[in-house]
Amino acid sequence: MCALDSEDRACKTLDPAWFDEDAEPTAVDRAKSACARCPVRWRCLCRALEGDEYGVWGGLTRTEREALRQPPRMLVALTTPRNRRAAVVAA
Ligand code: SF4
Repeated sequence: MCALDSEDRACKTLDPAWFDEDAEPTAVDRAKSACARCPVRWRCLCRALEGDEYGVWGGLTRTEREALRQPPRMLVALTTPRNRRAAVVAA
């Protein structure tokens, strides 16, 4: 469960165990469901992306947030020197 102190957060009265990313999948699903309707979801997710938080924040587990941080594969492919040259020639 996130540390946002917003009075509006959907997790305010929920069981913190649901937000443990190693909890039962049904618990994590409940947490994600709460996040989906949370009015401060994007602020929560941004806070989590700034740090290395554990648990479900902004509707995503730490593993899912790590995946968000990875650059898209196509972008990586186009930014390698060899492919960048090929892209310029093709343009
Ligand atoms: S997005 Fe999820 S974890 Fe973050 S404040 Fe809302 S309910 Fe809590």
